[in-house]
Amino acid sequence: MKIGFIGLGIMGKPMAKNLLKAGFEVVAYTHKQATIDELVSCGAEAGTSGADLAGRCDAIVTMLPNSPNVRDAVFGKNGIVEGAHEGLVLIDMSSIDPTESKKIAAELEKKGIDMIDAPVSGGEPMAVAGTLSVMVGGKEETVEAMRPVLSAMASSVVYVGPIGSGNVAKLANQMIVGINIAACSEAFTFAKKMGTDPELVYQAIRGGLAGSNVMNAKVPMMIDGNYTPGFRINLHTKDLTNALNAAHAINSPAPFTASVMEIFQYLNAMGCGADDHDAIVKYYEALSGTSVVAEK
Ligand code: NAD
Repeated sequence: MKIGFIGLGIMGKPMAKNLLKAGFEVVAYTHKQATIDELVSCGAEAGTSGADLAGRCDAIVTMLPNSPNVRDAVFGKNGIVEGAHEGLVLIDMSSIDPTESKKIAAELEKKGIDMIDAPVSGGEPMAVAGTLSVMVGGKEETVEAMRPVLSAMASSVVYVGPIGSGNVAKLANQMIVGINIAACSEAFTFAKKMGTDPELVYQAIRGGLAGSNVMNAKVPMMIDGNYTPGFRINLHTKDLTNALNAAHAINSPAPFTASVMEIFQYLNAMGCGADDHDAIVKYYEALSGTSVVAEK
């Protein structure tokens, strides 16, 4: 199967390399020629546009920041639809608003193109290792036909339901992660202000009910004063914008998500948008006048 790949950023580049390692033919396209050249040196063919890929491939993976980028790649000048053939499958692995996934899929269906939404969790290290978790929406038979492609990049591929369901699962994931980091930030600044060592509090509670993957990944970073991304606040802001838009459209209240969104507004205003999302703790540190960073 020949796979086109559009969007070779932090995540897309290692994912495309894993498709090559699994034996798929890959045609690579992104805005940066140097990145296309790097993929060619790993065995890919160079693509010149979405239309070019659509004419040469059986399926196209998009791994782009947000829905306007996906729309541009699909419907823009020299976009996928300009070169598409009947039976082409679009595998959109970007994290976008599920409402947009449904609209894009409906427009593509009129042109004989099938679409699945397959966003991922797990950051760059898991993209490199090929151990991402993929949550997939779309027609079940199309998802099954594309499962070998997804499995080449992931250790878990879960079918969630019709088109848009993958992004619903992804947004639920992002709501929980953001709220969980904020809860850790609130509790650990409290502990520090009470005069208790955050590292010892972490060791004392991580094995109990409050412990979580988020706590294990993010609290040691907070204590180290390490805000190197990982997952950037500006990308998480994009996800919570999509989550709140989708939730408000159906009157599904999301007060904690909205609170984290306001914390993100503060952090973006303070120039922290490119920090890892563990920098949520900086907001609590500013409010409480204390720092959880260990003295060295
Ligand atoms: P990125 O900004 O590093 O990469 C996106 C790439 O897409 C860039 O290289 C950009 O030049 C390219 N691009 C944008 N518009 C394009 C277009 N129209 N045509 C061709 N190329 C185009 O972003 P990323 O970190 O790789 O994230 C991609 C998606 O994965 C996002 O939706 C993000 O939320 C999601 N995600 C990221 C992570 C992470 O840890 N970085 C984890 C899980 C999910």
